[in-house]
Amino acid sequence: MNVIYLDNNATTKVAPEVVDAMLPYLSEYYGNPSSMHSFGGDVAEKIKEARENVASLIGATADEIVFTSCGTESDGTAIRAAIESYPDRKHIVTSRVEHPAIKNLYETLSKKGYRVTFVPVDNQGHLDLDYLYRNLSDDTAVVSLMWANNETGVIFPIEEISQEIKDRGIVFHTDAVQAVGKLPIDIKETGVDLLSLTGHKLHAPKGIGVLYIRKGTKFSPFMIGGHQEKGRRGGTENVASIVGLGKAAELAKKHLDKDGYAHIGQLRDKLETSLLTRIPHSMVNGDREHRLLNTTSIAYEYVEGEAILLMMNEHGICASSGSACTSGSLEPSHVLRAMGVPFTAAHGSIRYSLSRYTTEEEIDVVIEKTPPIIERLRGMSPFWKDAMKSAAG
Ligand code: PLP
Repeated sequence: MNVIYLDNNATTKVAPEVVDAMLPYLSEYYGNPSSMHSFGGDVAEKIKEARENVASLIGATADEIVFTSCGTESDGTAIRAAIESYPDRKHIVTSRVEHPAIKNLYETLSKKGYRVTFVPVDNQGHLDLDYLYRNLSDDTAVVSLMWANNETGVIFPIEEISQEIKDRGIVFHTDAVQAVGKLPIDIKETGVDLLSLTGHKLHAPKGIGVLYIRKGTKFSPFMIGGHQEKGRRGGTENVASIVGLGKAAELAKKHLDKDGYAHIGQLRDKLETSLLTRIPHSMVNGDREHRLLNTTSIAYEYVEGEAILLMMNEHGICASSGSACTSGSLEPSHVLRAMGVPFTAAHGSIRYSLSRYTTEEEIDVVIEKTPPIIERLRGMSPFWKDAMKSAAG
């Protein structure tokens, strides 16, 4: 059975060009980039090229790019560096819909005496900007907000917010893990001090990330060790993955430049409109305008997301649900709860996330297979039967 992969916000296929670029660095070119000999020096040159490609994708300069092991490490390093740089400040600000990489770190920090403000979102997933600005003070060390949400694709106005925050002397970090490679980003035009990205969301392998550190930003490393990454992240470089990320960044830039994302948006819209038309009591979670072109989160009322995923899986269709299995009970995701999505809809929410490898034929299969799945599950759902009874009066 062919796999129809619509789970690209979870992780992406490694591009074949990326694999080709990496292979020599897993076999013949195994030198240590820090060595004095040219066998290592050649590897260092290749890392330099990768760094320039990543910098170019986000409009940074090469020496502002620090390679890490993943988005989670970049997020954690950024926040810890910010609070260590301003030890007298005990207040940090984030949103209610961040990825666990940020959310759980902040919960830990709040137990250590930091006061954390979680800025709410409205039912479209948009940040309450007044609330955000009202809550900034001289005690605020860092504001950390995601550029685009991994579940709904809703985009926060990071450029605008960063300009507001820049003049207040507060460090501004953005988790751009879902945005880089999907949106054109010119970081030097913003007031962002720190930005996280990860390779595996843009067709590079897992286990490689980047922290962008704007020149002049106060910083202290999380991984203390050798002089690698100019002392900003110790540890011998993950050379093959860095080379792969460099190639992936080059490909992503080309794709964005020729507006390849518009095509992904057309496929996403076809999928979304067709499913909404064919399936009653279905709706999109979040603003349909200001969001990533590859993402749609659709709520099918009165069914369980997990049951939908299992039945889709029988047709080789891969997507994600809007629930997280925590402590044995199925909780709707914190993102959908923060948006006030009703329980009956949040439970039956499915996130579809496309990539440049998604084809129209695949979308057509999903459009054909999904309505009978929802109908079958609703036929078994007591909630659906009750809802239909009360609708009939
Ligand atoms: N931030 C966001 C918004 C994400 O979607 C993810 C991964 O899903 C991460 C951070 C964590 O990235 P990584 O898996 O590279 O640690």
